[in-house]
Amino acid sequence: MSKPKVAFFDFTSCEGCQLNKLNLEDHLLDILEHIDIVEFREAMDDKADEYDISFIEGSISTPSCIARIHDIRRRSKILIALGACATQGGINAMKNLHPIEEVRETVYGDDKYLFPTLPAMPVSAIVKVDYEVNGCPMSTPEFLKVLKSLLAGQEPIKPDSAVCVECKLRENECLYDRGMVCLGPISKSGCGAICPSFGQFCTGCRGLVSNADKNAMIDILTSHGITLDEAKKRLLLFNSYDHSQSMPK
Ligand code: SF4
Ligand code: SF4
Ligand code: SF4
Repeated sequence: MSKPKVAFFDFTSCEGCQLNKLNLEDHLLDILEHIDIVEFREAMDDKADEYDISFIEGSISTPSCIARIHDIRRRSKILIALGACATQGGINAMKNLHPIEEVRETVYGDDKYLFPTLPAMPVSAIVKVDYEVNGCPMSTPEFLKVLKSLLAGQEPIKPDSAVCVECKLRENECLYDRGMVCLGPISKSGCGAICPSFGQFCTGCRGLVSNADKNAMIDILTSHGITLDEAKKRLLLFNSYDHSQSMPK
């Protein structure tokens, strides 16, 4: 039986999620027994026409990104967004909080007309995304879980509980009790609460749970010594795309 053809593609990103995959040394040989990697710009020159599974890193932020993601979607049976840029627009979407012409001018100066740019978008804003692997960078354990589930013909689990749940299961002392603040109460789990487990507050890189109460989160942050302005900035770090969708056009 032929192995599934798997491809990796990058869009607007720092390529950290792809590098994270190349760091899977302990698992790579096992993985390669079960799949054929047919396209992966960072690691090989080969190309293919069709893919069983396509993994997408990065946000959509230019007209050419839109044409390219449509083309990849058309040639992919399953399409998976990897990392905060691809799943939520990521930190790239902070530019959406400013007029796009102002952004172009700031970045490109007099050459701004040479570089068409759009507000940064998650892949799902343009094409159907079948599954997501969240995080900045994407969680490698979750990447492996999703890949294994698909290879076993099972539906990958889509986490939608708060980081606090995993943090409590690890019996961590809450950082609020140590005078810090943390976005764990509204941030999507699946990372094993890795940051609070090492004494670092959660910045919400995996996006928000579906029923997140952002106003209550801001109240909690401001009642723990964070200014309102800073509290809003913390919430926007990985969630500017969603916020920009509700801004007046
Ligand atoms: S999600 Fe983070 S690590 Fe991954 S490409 Fe975007 S900025 Fe880089
Ligand atoms: S440290 Fe953060 S994630 Fe852990 S319980 Fe406290 S608020 Fe939740
Ligand atoms: S704890 Fe928060 S910031 Fe850290 S990986 Fe998990 S979701 Fe991201």
